[in-house]
Amino acid sequence: MNQPRPDTLRNIGIISHIDAGKTTVSERILFYTDEIHRMGEVHDGQATMDWMEQEQQRGITITATCTCCRWQDHWINLIDTPGHIDFTIEVERSLRALDGAVTIFSAVEGVQPQSESVWRQAAHYQVPRLCLINKMDRVGADYRQVLDQIKSRLGGRPALLQIPCGEEGAFTGVIDLLDDELLTFAGDDQGRQVHRHPVPAERQDEAKKARDALIEIAADFDEEVLAAFLEGRPLPAAKVRTALRRGTIAGAIFPVLLGSALRNKGIQPLLDAVCAYLPSPLDLPPVVATLVADGTTISLPSSADGPLAALAFKVVADDGRKLTYLRLYSGQLRPGDAVGNGSTGAQEKVARLFRMHAHKRERLDLAEAGDIVAATGIKDILTGDCLCPPVNLLQLAGLQIPAPVISLAVEPKDIAAREKLLPALEKLQWEDPTFRVHEDAETGQTLLSGMGELHLEVLVQRLTSDFGVDVSTGRPQVVFRESLRKAVTHREIFEREADGKVQFGDIEFCLTPLPRGGGLQLIMAGADGLPLPGTDWEQGLMTSLEQASQGGACAGFPMIDLEVRVTAIRDESGRMTETGLRAAAQKGLIEAARKGGGVLLEPVMQIEITLPVEYSGKVLGGLQQKRGRVEKVQAVGELETIHAQVPLSEMFGYMTELRSATRGRGSFSMEFSHFDDAPAETLKRFGLG
Ligand code: GDP
Repeated sequence: MNQPRPDTLRNIGIISHIDAGKTTVSERILFYTDEIHRMGEVHDGQATMDWMEQEQQRGITITATCTCCRWQDHWINLIDTPGHIDFTIEVERSLRALDGAVTIFSAVEGVQPQSESVWRQAAHYQVPRLCLINKMDRVGADYRQVLDQIKSRLGGRPALLQIPCGEEGAFTGVIDLLDDELLTFAGDDQGRQVHRHPVPAERQDEAKKARDALIEIAADFDEEVLAAFLEGRPLPAAKVRTALRRGTIAGAIFPVLLGSALRNKGIQPLLDAVCAYLPSPLDLPPVVATLVADGTTISLPSSADGPLAALAFKVVADDGRKLTYLRLYSGQLRPGDAVGNGSTGAQEKVARLFRMHAHKRERLDLAEAGDIVAATGIKDILTGDCLCPPVNLLQLAGLQIPAPVISLAVEPKDIAAREKLLPALEKLQWEDPTFRVHEDAETGQTLLSGMGELHLEVLVQRLTSDFGVDVSTGRPQVVFRESLRKAVTHREIFEREADGKVQFGDIEFCLTPLPRGGGLQLIMAGADGLPLPGTDWEQGLMTSLEQASQGGACAGFPMIDLEVRVTAIRDESGRMTETGLRAAAQKGLIEAARKGGGVLLEPVMQIEITLPVEYSGKVLGGLQQKRGRVEKVQAVGELETIHAQVPLSEMFGYMTELRSATRGRGSFSMEFSHFDDAPAETLKRFGLG
């Protein structure tokens, strides 16, 4: 039987700050569920989920991999998500595919800046979460402080399921509050055996207090538990679990477990908790899909009987072909099925379906709603697309794909590399919608753009390691945007004879700058009055305007915060052609934008710095010099967190600067915030001052 019952399915991810122990925990999960027979350690570069070479070199996990494992009578699809901020898109798209997550905190470092940002993303996608406070064996481990931080920094309500047995180096196990027993983990078989003992007499009072606190939380989600709690009646553990499960799935509480992954302690109770508290696909609200034909929305419960709706949450190159990871929300899929791509309109055929394991793939004859599988044979598909029935196309709400903010020129080192470069870049783009490639019109250079320095650095390394393409690179450059200074109107008449045919178009626009964050809006004013022969002309016209806006008018960057309103299309002579009109639109938009005067916009990043208080003055001074705007400074014990907005162009190499200013004790995270006016000297650099 390789088909899970939906109620026994758990699609989960592990999300955490880098270094909290995600890879180590994943490795233990795979080992105890018999998916792997040997445990590798992160520090010797052997961890199974870290399958890419440079991840092993860096000791961090970048690419999400989906692995299926079995625990008791449950099926767990485990999606490993990245911890580095440069790869948040990976986190986001994994979160779309998940039903629940385990958040790992280090018992020593606690809630770090990046934990907050992944926590916020998980909250955005309403992913129910468990928390594991890991590294309980380390000196300075303090789970109570982490519980406080979950409350104060993340605004979450923790529900502590265990208390530790032994502190720091003497941490040997956990006391399970609901089952009222002490769990220890055998040292001689890598923690595989869990030993159960009565709670030691000297800990019973403490355990009772903690259990009462847990039941009090559960009482908020079940009347019966509440009544028993108020009357002081004993309650079966199963009752309390059901109530806690309800609260967890509603996102109101976060069950907390303790462990030390490296010392093989606390992982089996974590797996039990995944099954007990995290939702199955049946526990979640139906997904909403849009019928492409008429824009109406339908609600799809997780059922194999409904129409197919599957999200391609990751597309990877596998032996030169596409391997597509699919999360099925509704319907069924079989090898050989004809399917539609609701996002592109393409018709496709699924060749094979697989369940992915750590070291092998298992062929499937059927995949049903709720499950996560990988498919081959789908050609025209990118991450974020929706697969659906070939007729009555459906579209799921897309992923938010952030704008790339950094670009890097690459130059092939030799002729062999020149030939392989573009095909290799295309494959990398399948996997990563935040990575774009284009050619600089003036220099002819190939420009890669992405979310940050490390993002591009990893992609360049993969060119060499995965595709054998050697390139040299330029310095990373900030990606700007353009907008207008003032509103303009413009009429463009295009007339040209080519191959005996006259192309003619006459169009008038009004271009108005919008406030920052306004995006690009293309509008056909009173389209009824415009003499266009059909809606396909209108679509063609929109495409031309969009393309023209991408190339910019003054410095070659895409135009944003701008309304382009087509106010008239004239065809008195009856000579208008579609090509002529599109050419007029394209040329006219650029002319008009030039008249409006260029404004250059630079990416501004939201940054969060955590550092010991004594260094804060120095770091704040540094931010000021970087044109930073400090929003707030929060004190957390001896540490301080600075929230600020700083232009990206000032942030190159900041890691090194922060480390030296704080003697290595400061850390920071950064994500794109918005585009804002670039300073005068930048304008001058582009001849716009
Ligand atoms: P990730 O970046 O979240 O995937 O974290 P890793 O699993 O790579 O772990 C980061 C480092 O912490 C590695 O050196 C691990 O060996 C170490 N580590 C992980 N779990 C524990 C733990 O429970 N105790 C201790 N002392 N170290 C741990």
